[in-house]
Amino acid sequence: APTVAIAQARKVYPGGLEAVAPLDLILEPGRTTALVGPSGCGKSTLLRMIAGLEEPTEGSVMIDGEHPVTVAERGELAVAFQDPSLLPWRSVRRNIALALTLARRPVDEGDIDRMIALVGLEGFDHTRPAALSGGMRQRAAIARALITEPRLLLLDEPFGAVDELTRQDLLAELPPLWRQRGTTTVLVTHSIAEAVRIADRIVVLSPRPSRIAADIPVPLPQP
Ligand code: ADP
Ligand code: ADP
Repeated sequence: APTVAIAQARKVYPGGLEAVAPLDLILEPGRTTALVGPSGCGKSTLLRMIAGLEEPTEGSVMIDGEHPVTVAERGELAVAFQDPSLLPWRSVRRNIALALTLARRPVDEGDIDRMIALVGLEGFDHTRPAALSGGMRQRAAIARALITEPRLLLLDEPFGAVDELTRQDLLAELPPLWRQRGTTTVLVTHSIAEAVRIADRIVVLSPRPSRIAADIPVPLPQP
């Protein structure tokens, strides 16, 4: 699993709003880091910079010495964001299959079945996103991110629209899966309880522009 090296990364949006102050952070291989902090502090901006979706105004983000876009293009980086960008004209199954194709991985229908079951979407594999609830769409997006067994997994409030019972199920089922694979994982959340449950490190960001206010190791979650 890769190391993410964030060096003096700063983000100023056009118009002058500084979302992330020059920030240094090393994310070690195989660890799950939760980014927490007040709403609007720059958590998503930082995550999007790690994903290569946003270019730092100054400084750099490197994944094992490479630009995030290079890693993403090899299919080794997966994201699941709060607003899941599923292709609306494709069923759940075909959205998940497309992720495999884009990552140049074989499309194994059995693996897709198991992933659909894991996120609790059995019976909905031929349903299109528009016909799903918000929580079900989020679960489909998580399935799509995990199916490629990415080396780097970036999650932005992935359980935000999921009902509480399903959330508890997903929190029990999914983190052991990516931990077992040794995936380097970064999770943006506003829930300290969720961070403590999933992460082995919690990075608390200050109000905007994001600086590191605290960096807290978490004992490994109990099974
Ligand atoms: P968080 O995820 O912590 O809620 P964000 O990273 O989404 O914070 O946003 C940080 C700040 O940057 C906010 O003030 C937000 O309004 C602003 N912002 C986010 N995205 C953009 C953008 N594309 N253009 C301009 N400002 C943005
Ligand atoms: P929410 O997004 O409101 O939290 P969930 O993702 O928890 O909703 O879904 C609640 C349940 O509603 C699902 O498990 C499913 O049984 C049912 N449901 C939602 N959308 C549909 C649909 N399009 N067809 C059939 N059942 C659905």
